[in-house]
Amino acid sequence: MSTEREEIAVVGAGLAGCLLACFLARRGYPVALYERRPDPRTGKVERGRSINLALSERGLDALRRIGLDQQVMADALPMRGRMIHPVEGEPQFQSYSVSGDRAINSISRGALNNALLDAATALPGVRIAFDHRLVGLDPTTGEMTFETPQGKVTETASVVLGADGAGSAVRGQLLAYGAVTESLDFLDYGYKELTIPPIGGEFALDPGALHIWPRGTSMMIALPNPDRSFTCTLFWPTHGTQSFASLGSPAAIETYFATHYPDLVPLAPNLVDDYQHNPVGVLGTVRCTPWQVAGRVGLLGDAAHAIVPFYGQGANCAFEDVVELDRCLDECGDQWASALPLFQHRRQANAEAIARMALTNFVEMRDKVASPVFQTRKKIEHALERALPGRYVSQYELVSFSTTPYAEVRRRVRRQYGVVGAVAAGALVALAGAAAALGRGRRG
Ligand SMILES: Cc1cc2nc3c(=O)[nH]c(=O)nc-3n(C[C@H](O)[C@H](O)[C@H](O)COP(=O)(O)OP(=O)(O)OC[C@H]3O[C@@H](n4cnc5c(N)ncnc54)[C@H](O)[C@@H]3O)c2cc1C
Repeated sequence: MSTEREEIAVVGAGLAGCLLACFLARRGYPVALYERRPDPRTGKVERGRSINLALSERGLDALRRIGLDQQVMADALPMRGRMIHPVEGEPQFQSYSVSGDRAINSISRGALNNALLDAATALPGVRIAFDHRLVGLDPTTGEMTFETPQGKVTETASVVLGADGAGSAVRGQLLAYGAVTESLDFLDYGYKELTIPPIGGEFALDPGALHIWPRGTSMMIALPNPDRSFTCTLFWPTHGTQSFASLGSPAAIETYFATHYPDLVPLAPNLVDDYQHNPVGVLGTVRCTPWQVAGRVGLLGDAAHAIVPFYGQGANCAFEDVVELDRCLDECGDQWASALPLFQHRRQANAEAIARMALTNFVEMRDKVASPVFQTRKKIEHALERALPGRYVSQYELVSFSTTPYAEVRRRVRRQYGVVGAVAAGALVALAGAAAALGRGRRG
């Protein structure tokens, strides 16, 4: 029971940290969950910070394991495909799956975090310390220093797990200690959130799709919310002549959107205010190694491997980390000194694979989704999936609708492309042969 095990410290009560606390408490560990913010269930939501996110199979699989999937899905809005908005003309729908019925789910980040906090709080052995910002960590002793409204406090734990997000203080402490190395690859792009409110109490756009405005250098997406609004996220370079830095005055903002996003303008009455007041978030890929030190301090979720959001997989991947760590603890008989290295061994290549796929997907969403070549490729892909069920599965389906390890998804997709390439080459050779025979026939 919980009293037989030593307390585990989890730093960061975000998505991964809360889920991890639930899994550890179910294993019988007392858990101390430390969070720098006040309790979000009683406070205000931060303005313009990824209000909703797309939850797909990997995240759902993790939630199912703690019996939280149905509660979270009750407010989810399934999105069965992309709705592409050209500058002129009608939007076009592209289904995510060959069957047309598979969906990724738009959910409120805040509601998901609160549901996980409630679930963690309800478990015996979990204590949550809000307003505790980690500012110091000795990885050799597990001694942590926190800044709190009452001043600095120190706590010690036998195992410290950093689930404190992309700017992880735990990772920063390990770095300062010389125990890990990191690389941070920031994109030249940032993001800003804008809102499309309901019209007459109804959604202003189809809520069954993830909306995309692909514009080459910039791109906007919109996901539906349970209150029938949409949260739009504009991705754009942070500096330069065509960038967030280039628009200041209300007139310039209005002109820019009227030119590049004309169908958004009548739907977003607070566009100028949103644009001027919502912050520009940074986007990048975080890599570090190792993910654990001495089997006593570990990193997971964004703290270990933050990725760009273009595959909608960061939180899904962080949840999958928790499931894998739980599995490693099973296999290692709860010996953390073996479980943490095993966890890194199993997850690092997968995190790298989704990091790369997410970067590639940015180019696809920004530049390609509207092109006839891309649309034809999708049609061919769906035809192949129909002709070879289970043998040809698109990358999108494998990433979003399965729990196939991300690294295996990349290997499999490369093999599939090889087969398709061979088939296409074979068809071309056959066509060339037929044309040559026809030519000979005409000459003869
Ligand atoms: C614009 C955008 C859109 C996204 N869309 C999607 C999507 O559609 N689908 C998807 O799966 N993912 C999406 N993501 C990614 C997703 O948000 C992250 O991958 C996910 O939140 C990672 O969870 P985490 O728990 O590791 O980190 P976080 O959610 O960042 O949680 C970290 C927690 O640690 C706390 N903390 C930080 N520092 C300290 C400290 N020093 N002491 C104590 N506590 C601390 C923070 O306050 C926070 O509560 C998106 C990200 C962005 C930026």
